[in-house]
Amino acid sequence: MKQTISILGSTGSIGQSTLDVIARHPEKFEVYALTANQDVTRMFEQCQRFKPSLAVMTQPLAATQLRAQLEKAGLKTQVLTGSDALDQVASATEVDIVMAAIVGSAGLSSCLAAAKTGKKLLLANKEALVVGGDVFMQAVQRGKARLLPIDSEHSAIFQSLPEDPLTWSERVEKIILTASGGPFRNWPLEDIAKATVEQACAHPTWVMGRKISVDSATMMNKALEVIEAHYLFGVEPAKIEVVIHPQSVIHSMVQFKDASVVAQLGTPDMRVPIAYGLSWPTRMDSGAKPLDFSSLSAMTFESFEDPTHRARYPGLALAFKALEHKAGMPGVLNAANEEAVQAFLEGRITFGQIHQVNVSTLEAYAPKAPVDLADLMGIDQEARRVAKAHIEGIKAC
Ligand code: NAD
Ligand code: MG
Repeated sequence: MKQTISILGSTGSIGQSTLDVIARHPEKFEVYALTANQDVTRMFEQCQRFKPSLAVMTQPLAATQLRAQLEKAGLKTQVLTGSDALDQVASATEVDIVMAAIVGSAGLSSCLAAAKTGKKLLLANKEALVVGGDVFMQAVQRGKARLLPIDSEHSAIFQSLPEDPLTWSERVEKIILTASGGPFRNWPLEDIAKATVEQACAHPTWVMGRKISVDSATMMNKALEVIEAHYLFGVEPAKIEVVIHPQSVIHSMVQFKDASVVAQLGTPDMRVPIAYGLSWPTRMDSGAKPLDFSSLSAMTFESFEDPTHRARYPGLALAFKALEHKAGMPGVLNAANEEAVQAFLEGRITFGQIHQVNVSTLEAYAPKAPVDLADLMGIDQEARRVAKAHIEGIKAC
């Protein structure tokens, strides 16, 4: 029997890689719905090729344009619009698997909808978990959803952990997340603050969307991943370590009580964790090239304790700060960062000012513990308001 899938954010980097993997296994998967914000051209191509029952464009104008193009081409895909439509295709009874690949907290509500209805939920959208925190994890538990991480580090950890989660706390000493160090690992410190958008988006080992590329350059991506690991695996922050590994061959590791370390390795290709999530608990072809050990000259590691790296990547410490306060603070950090990265991408602030916005927002707003989606969205909106005011202040200087 084929499994049906909704891909939220199908026109993005993860969405396209997911469709690439699915196209290799037409006997296993059938696309039920595809969603995007406004990229009509790519969505039309995807509808032509994968013939989903539904396509969602969150921007109404984009939905109108797509509807016209599909009609002209004689395609039967029905087009919906608005964020409620995302929840609808994430929770539809026809759907077995949901790939959550929207960028940012815009994907939170649909992730929760999939969790509550017990789907197999492939989570690439790390911001949704960072914002959702315990509320998200409780929805997964109550809805009996199967949550599988797609972020390469978390997929690596999941693959390295024992099968039974009940044994993790007694066996695991710590989680070791690897980080490539991004494009500025060897830059003189004084040049980084003035880096351009093009320089920040030129990741040395991975090809990704613009927001996560900027996050990799500031190291906020790793900060979000520390928070993600905390919620996904129930590990306390003190037991999460980050190490720089520029080659991106080891995708992350688990150290056990007996000092043994288990790691997952592979080429930097997101189709590997995507195929693993889709086929779990079995394995299938991902289309990725295997590692060639004869041409792999070295695997190196650098500590974050190095004072230059601490100064180079000040954003990482914010994850631990946000987790110390826990209730809602990771959501504040995420909202500030989303606004700051957007402002940087639009040329309204400099690269160095992204961190300033994040710090001042965290210092200015301490929310009450969220208990439901409305609380989470309220914190997200208020933190964005605070962050925007800081951005305006910077611009005015
Ligand atoms: P991307 O920018 O390439 O794609 C984002 C997708 O989300 C697009 O389909 C876009 O149309 C849609 N989208 C954007 N804003 C939206 C909104 N407001 N409402 C509805 N849809 C919206 O991003 P990406 O690189 O594919 O990353 C997607 C998610 O996966 C992010 O959370 C990212 O952190 C995570 N992730 C990505 C990678 C990677 O290699 N690209 C690796 C690990 C994790
Ligand atoms: Mg990652």
